[in-house]
Amino acid sequence: MIAFDNISASYDGVHQAVEDVTFTVDKPAIVGIIGPNGAGKSTFIKSALHLIDGGGSTTVDGKPLQKRKKEVAYVEQKSDIDYTFPITVGECVSLGLYPEKQFFQRITKEDWQKVDHALALVKMEEFKDRQIGELSGGQFQRILIARTFVQDATFIFLDEPFVGIDATSEQIIMELLSGFKKEGKAIFIVHHDLSKVERYFDELVILNKKLIAKGPTDETFTKANLQEAFGDTIFVGGGQVND
Ligand code: ADP
Repeated sequence: MIAFDNISASYDGVHQAVEDVTFTVDKPAIVGIIGPNGAGKSTFIKSALHLIDGGGSTTVDGKPLQKRKKEVAYVEQKSDIDYTFPITVGECVSLGLYPEKQFFQRITKEDWQKVDHALALVKMEEFKDRQIGELSGGQFQRILIARTFVQDATFIFLDEPFVGIDATSEQIIMELLSGFKKEGKAIFIVHHDLSKVERYFDELVILNKKLIAKGPTDETFTKANLQEAFGDTIFVGGGQVND
């Protein structure tokens, strides 16, 4: 179980971007984190994973996150990543090994087998020696997910993984994540497309600075909760919203 207790964050010390968000998630699950632009979804993850300063605490199976770091993987928004960094696809995936390896340790033959297996899972084997800068957005996202697999993380956080990617990559990624869930992992996905919420997520965390709702999708994906999060202007493209 992962437990978030009073997660808060402020960028200027005056305005809270995230305020006292508390909830727990039991694995296995695929959890959607939804809310309007600027609601603090990314900030919540960064603060909860101690990637930025903030208040509150996160525990993994009752232990402080600092002691269970290897079990947690985070894939930031594509816009935050430097694509031009000169590194091959295989090397990029192998970075998932570093939470358990010291940087000076050599990557062993078994490690490379792990990398090859992860690349096969995301259907990117033949790209192993290419530079990451040559990949499409969807291919790159698949590589980043392969990296979490190599890390063998149990709790995986993905920030808007489907933005600007092709439908095939989105499908491959969702199938892969369902497989991860079957292995007992919990996957958290910041997502803005409400039309896919019911198809993709077992549970929802609905945020707008504060936690508005958390629970099974069929109980939380309601008009009242969405109105509270998004205001009256909400437009749900083709999606069914429960009363
Ligand atoms: P979301 O992911 O829901 O779109 P964010 O977590 O990115 O929301 O942003 C929450 C709030 O924090 C917004 O008001 C945003 O402008 C602000 N914010 C986000 N990142 C920074 C930053 N690096 N510096 C200052 N303010 C930020």
